[in-house]
Amino acid sequence: MLLGHCSKCGKTEGLMNCSRCHGATGAYCSKECQAAHWKIHKPVCKPLEAGEVWGIKILDNRYQPWSRQFQHVLLEPSHPVFTQGELCPVTAECGFPLLIWSEAIHGGLPAMENNQPAVYLRIELDDGFAPFHWQRTDPGTCIVVRQDRKLLTKEAIEIVYNFHSYLLDRADPENAESGHGAFGQPLNPEWLRSFADDYREDETSRGRKGFDFFP
Ligand SMILES: [Zn+2]
Ligand SMILES: [Zn+2]
Repeated sequence: MLLGHCSKCGKTEGLMNCSRCHGATGAYCSKECQAAHWKIHKPVCKPLEAGEVWGIKILDNRYQPWSRQFQHVLLEPSHPVFTQGELCPVTAECGFPLLIWSEAIHGGLPAMENNQPAVYLRIELDDGFAPFHWQRTDPGTCIVVRQDRKLLTKEAIEIVYNFHSYLLDRADPENAESGHGAFGQPLNPEWLRSFADDYREDETSRGRKGFDFFP
């Protein structure tokens, strides 16, 4: 599946596919964008076999901070995340649907450790809590993929996680009475997108690279 936008700047015209992965995970509008994006692109730059999907493995809380908890993972089309994974409510409402699968809750492995980023991703719109089956069992390692099976990057999951964190800071049970759920106002794609723009600006001004284009 080709990307349709420059992986660095988001431009949609004059794209050339990365020649190493044949555009599976990288396409660019210019050599400059390609060079500037290489460090970010390198871990996922390989041609994909039919049906393979890049997802993110979220390691459990023993690997905190979360910047170490997120890992790229290449998934076979038969991975149970595609059939057993649960839709993450906040991102679904924001036009970026993700599926999440837990090795303990769905995979039947003995519960080991909690996984804070994963639990955040699973919070419900009405009360800001993860459902009971996510609270009752420590989820351990989790797998997240885009429902549309496109590339999910570490940068995108970082932004999404921080968006949940920001929403939870403003979550208030009294908000629910306003009829707009836990977060005081209805979620929509523009809210996530403007959060992503601000996050990218902040991180870039701190000298971090990679927060170029939120898909
Ligand atoms: Zn570009
Ligand atoms: Zn590539």
